[in-house]
Amino acid sequence: MQLFRASIAHFPKQTTQFTDDIAIFKDGGLLIDKKEIKDIGDFDTIAARYPAASVTDLTGKWILPGLIDSHLHYPQTQSIAHYGEQLLTWLENYTFPAEMQFADSEHANTIAKVFLNQLLKNGTTTGFVFTTVHKSSCQALFNAASDIDMAIVAGKVCMDRNCPSQLTDCTESAQADSASLIETWHNKGRNRYALTPRFAPTSTEAQLAALGELAQQYSDVFIQTHLSENLDEIAWVKSLFPQADGYLDVYDKYNLVRERAVFGHGIHLTPDEWGRLGESGATVAFCPTSNLFLGSGLFDMTAARANKVHVAMATDVGAGTTFNMFKTYGDAYKVSQLRNDPLSPLEGFYLMTQGAAIAHGLDEEIGNLNPGTIADFIVVEPRFDELTSLRIQQDADFDDVFFALSILGDDRAIAQTWISGNCCYEKSSGNNELQ
Ligand SMILES: [Zn+2]
Repeated sequence: MQLFRASIAHFPKQTTQFTDDIAIFKDGGLLIDKKEIKDIGDFDTIAARYPAASVTDLTGKWILPGLIDSHLHYPQTQSIAHYGEQLLTWLENYTFPAEMQFADSEHANTIAKVFLNQLLKNGTTTGFVFTTVHKSSCQALFNAASDIDMAIVAGKVCMDRNCPSQLTDCTESAQADSASLIETWHNKGRNRYALTPRFAPTSTEAQLAALGELAQQYSDVFIQTHLSENLDEIAWVKSLFPQADGYLDVYDKYNLVRERAVFGHGIHLTPDEWGRLGESGATVAFCPTSNLFLGSGLFDMTAARANKVHVAMATDVGAGTTFNMFKTYGDAYKVSQLRNDPLSPLEGFYLMTQGAAIAHGLDEEIGNLNPGTIADFIVVEPRFDELTSLRIQQDADFDDVFFALSILGDDRAIAQTWISGNCCYEKSSGNNELQ
């Protein structure tokens, strides 16, 4: 048994909407045994309870639950930071060419490793990941994640129209490949499958119907796609699906709007769509860096709260500009400022930990540090350079530390990332090489 001494913060409760009921132990103790969290509390209490545990003293640092990134694209790791496009031309000019390279499974293996290294380095221990249309790209990611016993949710992208021929599947192959990947990977180890139509414009009605059948057949698989990100996209959906009553209704018609469905963006939703998302138990992934970068718009957190819609924070790399979830909250804060309803640091932290885990129905495993969950946690070093040492007081409260790091921080604030009770990344060890 290992006992870590540090300041600790997490949301322990299973509340479906955010409350600021965070548990904070300034001089805390976190006890793990193999891959599981066994106890948490004030250090003196835990140390007295487990006198035989070996103690690691991380005083001055914070232990937090591993971060959850609820929407991103691993094949776009190389597409990050390209100039000057909005959604549809971005896909054409950068995304599709990058995804074509994943026909080569060696390339997929290489990028999967780089991608996971980037997550670990930034403290992200679970990602909801789009792969490419190639079945092997999905296998490459699940294999790499399995090597470190990391909880990954991923799926093969399905597209049978409006994309280059090299990236096109068909209704039958999308259904057969998705079903076979579910059988091989879903709930195997810590892997989980997500049915992944890229977005409505790249799927025929027949393909959406086939994926909807799978969603009913395998009721605990995830569904991930995009929704109402950009005005040109919405107009396109309207022309492709004239019978549908709006964008969300296209998915709804095929049983793709339910719990464990995660919709990227949701920037330009109608009041009816907000209401339907709230009653369905689906989740919207709020991707502020991407929304600003592609000029898509400002997410309406106020409407999400009013309609009791689950929201989870996400980077949307490669249109997102960072793998770092703290910085992602920093941009969410700026978006919310422009909407005159600033998103508090505690709510931001909730949306990348326990709030996301509850939205996804995974809070018995991840998102908090409760006894019985898996030991996925990060060690944060708030005062990692001259400026942060000046700005962040040694005894600063958690919300101040988190906020300052969301503006001033980056991967340098992540000292260690632990997954399933193993330290998978340590800042001082480098780990910056492309292996
Ligand atoms: Zn996306």
